[in-house]
Amino acid sequence: MAKRVVIALGGNAILKPNQSATVETQLANIQLSAEQIAKIEKLDHQIVVTHGNGPQVGNILRQNEEAKEVVPPFPLDVCNAESQGFIGYLMEQSIKNKIEQEELTSNVVTLLTQVEVAADDPAFEKPTKPIGLFYSEEEAKKMAEEKHWVMEEDAGRGYRRVVPSPQPVTIHGVESMVHLLNQNTIVIAGGGGGIPVVKQAEGLKGIEAVIDKDRTGKKLAEQVDADVFMMLTDVNNVYINYGTPEQEKLTGLSVSEAQAYFDAGHFAEGSMGPKMEAAIAFAKQGKTAIICSLEEADLALLGEAGTRIAG
Ligand code: ADP
Ligand code: MG
Repeated sequence: MAKRVVIALGGNAILKPNQSATVETQLANIQLSAEQIAKIEKLDHQIVVTHGNGPQVGNILRQNEEAKEVVPPFPLDVCNAESQGFIGYLMEQSIKNKIEQEELTSNVVTLLTQVEVAADDPAFEKPTKPIGLFYSEEEAKKMAEEKHWVMEEDAGRGYRRVVPSPQPVTIHGVESMVHLLNQNTIVIAGGGGGIPVVKQAEGLKGIEAVIDKDRTGKKLAEQVDADVFMMLTDVNNVYINYGTPEQEKLTGLSVSEAQAYFDAGHFAEGSMGPKMEAAIAFAKQGKTAIICSLEEADLALLGEAGTRIAG
């Protein structure tokens, strides 16, 4: 039966570690992802695609920093919008081309997505997400004074700006997404966790923050009332005792089994942790969450690969 599926693409789908961030390289990766999306479309599902933007927004911030004497630098919300725009463009074009080759009739549309966060989210008290360039201690002090950035030492590599990572509360434009889905359209939305905005007396306003893409994916899946939320990453499965001789592949899990492994600390903070947190919270509502590799996405949807958490 046709299902509504939200697919969150991991960083690898656009740029792999150690690859140079040329458009050609990113496009080649995206074209491979597009093949997988087309396979899922062939299974007759309704699809929303969301994606990360870490390295891409990092490079935009760097361009801003390097050119700041000639072009005024843009704030983070605008940089997120820029990255959603160019990644969305490459993805939309790649999926469209693949869909046409396969003689499918679906359309593909990218939506710039504002994601509302709470102005009183505790994350604003304690920024945790490192972004952009590395600075010397002296430069870091200057940035902190001049721009009121919070600067932190990052694993012996230098100082970096850290920004808040608040929870997504409301994704804007969901009604339009649902309308498009019902019109045989693949929707690309919420890239890079979406553009963080807060609601003020005068309306929505961009804010300097980064929203975790897996949390936004889960929120998107809830708001479009998806049946399945998939996170495609660079491992085929989730493991317990990951990276040890005792590591064990997880295939099918109940919510309570997944929660027990989560509580026992099997999923690393900052990588698998947020994915499992999102998967459990989604599956709890009687839905299916899947974590698998990009290459096995279609098989995982058929229940033949990946790690599935069923509520
Ligand atoms: P993405 O860009 O797809 O969000 P992440 O690097 O954030 O990718 O998360 C995927 C990574 O999580 C894997 O490459 C793996 O190294 C790591 N990881 C941590 N704990 C686990 C686990 N228990 N099982 C599988 N992978 C894990
Ligand atoms: Mg991640």
